[in-house]
Amino acid sequence: MLTITKRLEFDAGHRIPQHKSQCRNLHGHRYALEITLEGEPIDDPESSDHGMLMDFTDVKALAKDHLVDLWDHAFLVHDGDTLIRNLLAQIPGHKTVVLNRVPTAENLVAIAFEILDPLYTERFGNHLKLRRLRLYETPTSWADCDRK
Ligand SMILES: [Zn+2]
Repeated sequence: MLTITKRLEFDAGHRIPQHKSQCRNLHGHRYALEITLEGEPIDDPESSDHGMLMDFTDVKALAKDHLVDLWDHAFLVHDGDTLIRNLLAQIPGHKTVVLNRVPTAENLVAIAFEILDPLYTERFGNHLKLRRLRLYETPTSWADCDRK
């Protein structure tokens, strides 16, 4: 089995409301999302994807359309963080993404996996699967979500 990985980066704000220290403050990160797919190369000389698991451009486009463009330059807020939700609601047109979990790297990567998995898995007849998502919150801190 082969794997390919595509990396996308985006900027977003968040806070961890109950955190004991700095993460309680409103702040942002340059997140990086690494998408690892597994499968077999497409064996169809007529296809533009011949010899590929999936065209990297298509891997990127799906992730942008369904996740990255929605989260980029947004504030990711827990639905229970009503103080900040109410605050952001006063800013006309503010890009706010309300999540059902606190926006830790662990929860964000799990949410991202739920969104992206159905887009990639079994897309073609080459046993394509989303194997792993890795979300970097900083260059030295990341969380992984692997296919069970
Ligand atoms: Zn943070």
